[in-house]
Amino acid sequence: MNIYIEFTYLAASILFVFGLKGLTHPDSARRGMLLAAAGMTAAIVGTLFNPQIVSYQWIWIGLLIGGSIGAAMSIWMPMTAMPERTALSHAFGALAAALVGAAEYANFGGLMGPLKVGALGFEMLLGGLTFTGSLIAFGKLYGIVKGTPITFKGQNIFNMALLVVMVGCFIYLIHDPSAAWAFYIMMTLAFCFGVLLVIPIGAADMPVVMSLLNSYAGLAAAATGFVLGNNVLIIAGTLDGFSGFILSVLMCRAMNRSMNNVLFGAFGSVSDAVTVSATGSMREVGMEDVAVQLAYAKQVVFVPGYGMATAQAQHAVRELATVLENRGVTVKFGIHPVAGRMPGHMNVLLAEANVPYSLLYEMDQINPDLPQTDVAVVIGANDVVNPDARDNPKSPIAGMPIIEVDRAKSVVVLKRGKGKGFSGLENPLFFKPVTGMLYGDAKSSITGLTQAVQEV
Ligand code: NAP
Repeated sequence: MNIYIEFTYLAASILFVFGLKGLTHPDSARRGMLLAAAGMTAAIVGTLFNPQIVSYQWIWIGLLIGGSIGAAMSIWMPMTAMPERTALSHAFGALAAALVGAAEYANFGGLMGPLKVGALGFEMLLGGLTFTGSLIAFGKLYGIVKGTPITFKGQNIFNMALLVVMVGCFIYLIHDPSAAWAFYIMMTLAFCFGVLLVIPIGAADMPVVMSLLNSYAGLAAAATGFVLGNNVLIIAGTLDGFSGFILSVLMCRAMNRSMNNVLFGAFGSVSDAVTVSATGSMREVGMEDVAVQLAYAKQVVFVPGYGMATAQAQHAVRELATVLENRGVTVKFGIHPVAGRMPGHMNVLLAEANVPYSLLYEMDQINPDLPQTDVAVVIGANDVVNPDARDNPKSPIAGMPIIEVDRAKSVVVLKRGKGKGFSGLENPLFFKPVTGMLYGDAKSSITGLTQAVQEV
């Protein structure tokens, strides 16, 4: 029987690795998800054959509750609420690790050696803070917790003191595994720490926070694997922990911000920083003028951003792209890695609208193509096309790689008004002679353009 279990665990681990590999490209992402889900099924089935199981009653109840919650989330939470969904999943994963840790300690606490109790303490710390931290992240994204940074006087000192007490209890527990008081104080503080860690961070930074919490949840699961002597948990937890961490680093790099700045910088509140050439006036353009430009262009590049997501304009954009392609225009989409509010946000939306992957170009691929582009259409994007990031070393976003739409022959920006982007900075692109502003909700502007192009 043990050989059978180890075999299913090995198969699960291999499937997880291939699943992750699949997720590295949009073409293979669906297959990657299926492989990872098959891996999880193999791991669960293998575990069900564990001879240490004395009764299946609670396992079936757990499977039923967990499965129902997962199914309900996938049915009722739309793709656009993916960040909220992910936050909830992390919360549940971390809670599971923390519950297993608490049960293990209640059963064998005093009998554990320092190494095992160390792994258990690690699991409780990370599991506890990830559970409450992820719930706060969910609340901020869903709008039931204030999205702006929640701060109070002496917050950093208070948090540091809490951390010191928590780590102190952890070290004492390793010294004396039978000290139940240390275990339970540490556990309670870990739950409180998760809340305190996330409330001072703005809602827009939640994706970075969540992938960091994802990494903590993974490491908590790996620690659980050490406590239970379960290889698949160690492997899956480590994969999860490090992929979450790498994703956080990549997101920070794409925003040219440090992890410290995301976690402690309250970035969403920057507002009046100096811009290099945001002077003069913006040139407003009319629907018909833009339609003529698009209809007679050789190449059009769409650059979507957060505004396309809020307007839910992806289907309308797909329609306009088709109309233009039917007229012989080459259409491309330039995708910035942090456009929108979560990694892959634009890819998810455009995939939902059946835009073929072959039309999607990453930032480094589309930038050399922009000088040959007749019209670059910016759909509700702002920061990711801000030339100040490239031209103004004093800008708070200096060094952040951008999609260089200002190098195209003509630029049309679709936005509702003079609203700023996530960084709160003015965008000199809007004041350049090459740029025309088409004001209005992105979805109605695109729908109007589609009609107008058909009439040209
Ligand atoms: P952005 O800089 O936030 O700008 C969005 C623009 O969309 C706004 O200027 C707004 O202007 C416009 N808009 C909003 N609703 C609209 C609607 N219904 N129709 C038309 N326009 C609308 O967006 P971005 O260029 O995509 O940049 C993303 C930002 O988020 C970056 O600063 C990035 O660092 C940050 N971020 C991203 C992630 C991630 O994982 N993707 C994570 C954390 C932070 P109006 O109000 O005038 O319409």
